[in-house]
Amino acid sequence: MDKDCLFCKIINNVIPSNKIYEDDLLLAFNDINPQAPIHIIIVPKKHIRSLSDISQDDKELLGHIQFTISKIAKSFTELKNGYRVVNNCGNDGGQTVDHIHYHLLGGRVFGWPPG
Ligand code: AMP
Ligand code: ZN
Repeated sequence: MDKDCLFCKIINNVIPSNKIYEDDLLLAFNDINPQAPIHIIIVPKKHIRSLSDISQDDKELLGHIQFTISKIAKSFTELKNGYRVVNNCGNDGGQTVDHIHYHLLGGRVFGWPPG
């Protein structure tokens, strides 16, 4: 837990969130400023700053996150035709919250390349 981290506060219920899924290792909740009909944030409970800060020890956790995103996506009929998973990393990647997280977006068709 990083006491100054927004997502650590959400994980520890210091700040409320609209929870979609939770287990021992991660939490998924609705994004407060959705960019699509479905916009869910998936975070590990362990405070890791970004994808640039992962270690060998985190490989299993990252696999669990990916597997769980697939499981969550299967539970939404709006995502049956597909969805997008995004990780913004660092300044140039557009990361605004320094606790690694993945966006699960769907319910509309996305363009490519991203902005
Ligand atoms: P990123 O720009 O990739 O760091 O994404 C951070 C995301 O967190 C943005 O999509 C924000 O809308 C979202 N966000 C910020 N504060 C909250 C909050 N209190 N509850 C839910 N989502 C939030
Ligand atoms: Zn944190």
